[in-house]
Amino acid sequence: MTGTPRTALTIAGSDSGGGAGIQADLRTFFACGVHGMTAITAVTVQNSLGVQGFTEIPPDVVTAQIKAVARDMGVDAAKTGMLATAEIIEAVAATLDEVRIGRAAETQLVVDPVAASMTGHALLREEALEAIRSLLFPRATLVTPNLDEVRLLTGVDVTDRESQRHAADELLELGPQWVLVKGGHLYSDPECVDLLSDGVQYIELPGHRYETKHTHGGGDTMASAITASLAMDLGVPDAVAAGKRFIERSVAEAYPLGAGVGPVSPFW
Ligand code: PLP
Repeated sequence: MTGTPRTALTIAGSDSGGGAGIQADLRTFFACGVHGMTAITAVTVQNSLGVQGFTEIPPDVVTAQIKAVARDMGVDAAKTGMLATAEIIEAVAATLDEVRIGRAAETQLVVDPVAASMTGHALLREEALEAIRSLLFPRATLVTPNLDEVRLLTGVDVTDRESQRHAADELLELGPQWVLVKGGHLYSDPECVDLLSDGVQYIELPGHRYETKHTHGGGDTMASAITASLAMDLGVPDAVAAGKRFIERSVAEAYPLGAGVGPVSPFW
C-alpha cells in the first residue's frame, strides 16, 4: 500500500474462538481497508458453544492502550464493544475526553452496548449498564443496540415498527447523536428492518434474513464496518448503510465451526 491508511480503534474484549470481539473487529477493519488498533478490556474464554468465563483488564491498562495509539498514530474513528465493568467504562469515558477521536473537531465514536452473548452469557457486570447509559451514550456519535440490549437499556419491548420508533426516541433521550435500533432479533419480521434516527430523520433500512444459525460476532462486525466507514469520512446514514451491506454479506457467508454457533465471515 502507498500512503497512510485511515485508522480505527476498537475498545473491546478478546474472543478466544476468533469469531466476535476484538478478533471480529480487526478482521472487519482489515476487510474495509482501514488500519485497526485495539484497547483490550477483557479476555474471554469461549468457543462455538459459548463463553466459559472472562477476566477483565485493569482500567489503567485499558486507558493506557487508548492514549498510546491516539497520541502517536491518531484515531480517525473508534468503537466500544464489551466493556465488562463500571470501572472500565468510567476510565474509558474520562480518556475519550482527553484524546482526539476523529479527524476533525467532532468525535467519531460508535457505542455498541454489548451486555450478553447470544448464548445468554453475561459480558457486562450488572451495575455497569447504568455507566454505559450515563457516561458513554452522551459521548456517542451512534449507538447500535440489538433488541435485547434495547430492553435492558430502556425497558421497551420492540415487537413492531411503532415500538421500534418509540425505543429509538427513548434511546435518543440518553444523549447519543444517532441511534440504530437493529431489528435482526425480531424474528416475525422477514426483512430485519433496522431503524436509524437522530430524532429528526427516521430511516428504515430493510434487509434480507438468511436462514443460518451461524451468526456469532454479527453485532461486532456490523459496528466495526460502520466505524471503518466513519473513519473514511462517510456521514452516519451512509456509514450505516455500508455497515448493513457488509453484515448481510458476512451473514450470507457465515460458516459452521465447532459443535455450536459458527462465526459470520467478514472476508471479501
Ligand atoms: N465475545 C465478545 C468478546 C464479544 O464482544 C461478543 C459480542 O459483542 C460476544 C462474545 C458475543 O457475540 P455473539 O452474541 O454474536 O455470539
